Amino acid sequence: MTLSRIAREVKTSATLAITAKAKQLAAKGVDVIGFGAGEPDFDVPENVKNAAIKAIKDGYNKYTPTAGAPDLKEAICEKLLKDNQLKYTPSQILVSAGAKQAILNIVLVLCDSGDEAIIPSPYWVSYSEMVIMAGAKPVFLNTTDREHFKITKETLAKVITPRTKMLFMNSPNNPTGMVYTEKELREIVCFAVEKGIYVISDEIYEKILYDGVKHISPATLGDECYKKVITVNGFSKVYSMTGWRLGYAAGPEEIIKAATNIQDHTTSGANSITQKAGVEALKGNQDPVIFMIKEFDKRRRYIVERLNKIKGVSCLLPQGAFYVFPRVSDLYKRKIAGQSVANSFDLVNLLLEKTFVAFVPGAPFGADDYIRISYATSMANIEKGIDRFEKFLGS
Ligand SMILES: *Cc1c(COP(=O)(O)O)cnc(C)c1O
Repeated sequence: MTLSRIAREVKTSATLAITAKAKQLAAKGVDVIGFGAGEPDFDVPENVKNAAIKAIKDGYNKYTPTAGAPDLKEAICEKLLKDNQLKYTPSQILVSAGAKQAILNIVLVLCDSGDEAIIPSPYWVSYSEMVIMAGAKPVFLNTTDREHFKITKETLAKVITPRTKMLFMNSPNNPTGMVYTEKELREIVCFAVEKGIYVISDEIYEKILYDGVKHISPATLGDECYKKVITVNGFSKVYSMTGWRLGYAAGPEEIIKAATNIQDHTTSGANSITQKAGVEALKGNQDPVIFMIKEFDKRRRYIVERLNKIKGVSCLLPQGAFYVFPRVSDLYKRKIAGQSVANSFDLVNLLLEKTFVAFVPGAPFGADDYIRISYATSMANIEKGIDRFEKFLGS
């Protein structure tokens, strides 16, 4: 049997194997401590849940317009204006089943076969696969912890070709937690749009920020940016609504319209009940969000301090999201507990087998010298997990 080009070219999620192994161990009754979570360990705010229940009881069960329910699109426009100083009309908004679907729709609208999409690396694993689905070519722009995992106008200039169609920006970043400043964004994004390159700005961690840093939406950085940047956001991270599947894109009407056409023939749009809940999430009390960020902040400080005390591990203090991305490549050069460790997969596998701590290897994010540790887990788990890691390396 010959499978399609997409089926042959799109990779499985390499992080899934580790997660599956951790789950298997846990099912056997082993005390596994998981640091793989790509979602908050907090519950959906009560007012949001109640809005969904009310929607069901009110019989809000039919298809909504493909691009989103009018009240949600209005609420998103208000939110973008208030939080991001971005002026959009509802015709410039596409609501999707998660930010992931919104991003895929936009990639399919922008990229043709043979086009190139620049992906700053380390990167969120789905960007590259979406570009491949579109038949285009992912071009990785590598960064390291030395430059705080940030690209610059200069490094970007080196990978632009006549086929470059788009650039992915993701600040605050998954997996590194890094946040670009306004000055940095202005240089990079203004340069890209001057060259005629479209930018997808994935702002899903927008509100999960520390140390008083500010989030800047690149579409605000000038008229050309407004015309070429597509802003993507969602409810999964900030409102802990990962399973509810709700996200959106905002941008030029022509792009949003074309993306809506694609969605017309795939999912017909997001779940109606979730959309009602989304209105409440945006308009209701934001205290649960503030509480969650405070908790994340305590964990962030603790985990970075602990990691940097471990020989062979070095970790930047991230300013956003809920991940740390420590460099562990110094550990690759020696034997650990009698076993040789050559890369991030080896290290993560060994740690899971010997200490029952589940980290995520950096390789699938394009950065084998690192591992990703999510601190969307309790402080007690963090203490216990890092204790085990430290003890194991000392042994
Ligand atoms: C979680 C995540 C998404 C996708 O979120 P959904 O709205 O659940 O589809 C997109 N981008 C990044 C960087 C993420 O970490």
